[in-house]
Amino acid sequence: MKTTRRNLLKVTGLAAGASLFMDPVEALAGTAPKDPSTQLAMLVDTSRCIGCQSCERACAEKNGLPAVTGQPDSSQRRATGPEAFTVVNDNSTAAGSVFCKSQCMHCDQPACVSACLTNAMYKTPEGPVIWREDKCMGCRYCMVACPFDVPKFEYGSINPRIRKCAMCYDRVTEGQQPACVDACPQEALLFGQRGQLLTIARARIAERPADYVNHIYGESEVGGTNVLYLAAVPFEELGFRTDLGTVAYPEHTKTFLYSVPLVLLLGPAFLAGLRQATGSKGGGHHG
Ligand code: SF4
Ligand code: SF4
Repeated sequence: MKTTRRNLLKVTGLAAGASLFMDPVEALAGTAPKDPSTQLAMLVDTSRCIGCQSCERACAEKNGLPAVTGQPDSSQRRATGPEAFTVVNDNSTAAGSVFCKSQCMHCDQPACVSACLTNAMYKTPEGPVIWREDKCMGCRYCMVACPFDVPKFEYGSINPRIRKCAMCYDRVTEGQQPACVDACPQEALLFGQRGQLLTIARARIAERPADYVNHIYGESEVGGTNVLYLAAVPFEELGFRTDLGTVAYPEHTKTFLYSVPLVLLLGPAFLAGLRQATGSKGGGHHG
């Protein structure tokens, strides 16, 4: 768009308007816990995973991503990205090779949602955390805020999007399981209500204490997540961060957000106006 005085006024006008669509209190409301035990969640039992990548392939197919090429290789750690919303890594541990799938953790109180001033990153009442293209201003605060380094920006694209796993939100609201869960031949992935999955996870640990460390990753990390993990080895050996604590990240920023006048947050709002004025396309609600 050619920058004329008229366009500039339009942009600044939109920026002022943009400041109205989300205030800090509303932003925090999106991260409030809504009975996490009944939310939809996934249990990943790494002791059952054989590294077949069926979950990766199903995810790629469901989300229209490029075909899976890399393989789990203990000498190389693969990360999720705009073209791979879930990846399986082969971890060398004291107990040998352990495969582990990673993706968005769908936190109970997500830092990405707390950081997003336009509510583009959104914690659904059902549990999955989704990204909404029509609301995104491209500030990438969600990327900075995420303790698990999950949201990724399409830097090489003309119309870049934030990309990440949406826990197949469209499928699960129609009563289906996420594509990765459906595809897993080992039942290493279970899908259901978070409370029920925690009961199953605790029962597995109690029934076979020699086969599991006595910890369910995600039960309390960063205030709890909707992806839960079981493992036979300490989670740090699988590349998990174990230094995140049990306090939800939005709790750390709450005091700051409640005390900052909205005018100080107008920089991002200006970007939102600019993005709208320069004709970003609206679109889907799923990352
Ligand atoms: S893992 Fe990161 S992107 Fe996913 S919900 Fe948590 S904070 Fe948001
Ligand atoms: S489909 Fe199941 S067994 Fe295969 S890599 Fe994924 S989680 Fe592991």
